Amino acid sequence: MVREGILRSERCIRAMLQVKRHLFIDERHAKWAYEDTPLPLGNTGQTISAPHMCAYMLEALEPQLGHNVLEVGGGSGYQAALLAEVVAPSDTPKEMWGRVVTIEILDPLCELAKRNLKRADYSDRVLVVCGDGTLGYPPLEKGGLYDRILITAGGPDVPPPLLEQLKREGILVAPVGGRFTQELIRIRKKKSGELIRERLLPCRFVPLRGRFGWEGI
Ligand code: SAH
Repeated sequence: MVREGILRSERCIRAMLQVKRHLFIDERHAKWAYEDTPLPLGNTGQTISAPHMCAYMLEALEPQLGHNVLEVGGGSGYQAALLAEVVAPSDTPKEMWGRVVTIEILDPLCELAKRNLKRADYSDRVLVVCGDGTLGYPPLEKGGLYDRILITAGGPDVPPPLLEQLKREGILVAPVGGRFTQELIRIRKKKSGELIRERLLPCRFVPLRGRFGWEGI
C-alpha cells in the first residue's frame, strides 16, 4: 500500500501496522485476515472493508493526534481501531488522546464491535453506540462536535445532522450515490462554515440505513 501510494503518512502507516485485523474477523475467515479483500461479518450480510479501502479512507480523513472522530457504521470495529490508533496512539500519554465514537445500527454487530474493540484493547479510546448514525451522536445535536467524521456505508447523500456535527476546519469522508455503487467524497468545512466537496474515487459499500439513509426516503 505504501508502494502503491495508498498509505502516505507516517501516522497512518503506523496505525495499519499496529492494529491486528485478525482480531476483528470471524475465526472461520481468519486465514484471510491479511489478504486485501472484504470479508463477511457473521451472517448479517455486512462486510468489513478491504484493507486498502480502510487505509485509503484513513488517509483521506487526515486525522491528527487529539482529534475527536465519529464513525457511522461500526461493523467489526476495525476501522474505529485504526482511527483510534491515529488520534489516541498506544505510545502517547492519555492526556493527549482524542476519542472515537462509532455507531452501529444492527444490534448483533454493535455487540461484535464492542467485543472486538475490547479484546484488541481499544475500549478506553473508542465508544461503541448502538443506533442510527445518520442522526449523529448525540442524536440530532447541533453545533460542531467532531474534527473528523467517516461514514462506512453507502447513502443517497451526506446526512444533514452529520454536517451540523462537523467542526469548522473539519473533514468528512463518505461513500455517496446509488444503492450498489457510490463515489467516495470528501467534504471540508471551512472556517467560514462553507462546505467544499471533492470526489475521490468510485467504490462499493453496503447500504446506509436509517432516517437519512435509504430507509428514510
Ligand atoms: N467500518 C466497519 C465496516 C462497515 S460495513 C468495519 O471496520 O468493520 C457498514 C456498517 O454500517 C454495517 O455494519 C451496517 O450495519 C452499518 N450501518 C448501516 N447503516 C447505518 C446507520 N444508519 N447507522 C449506523 N450503522 C449503520
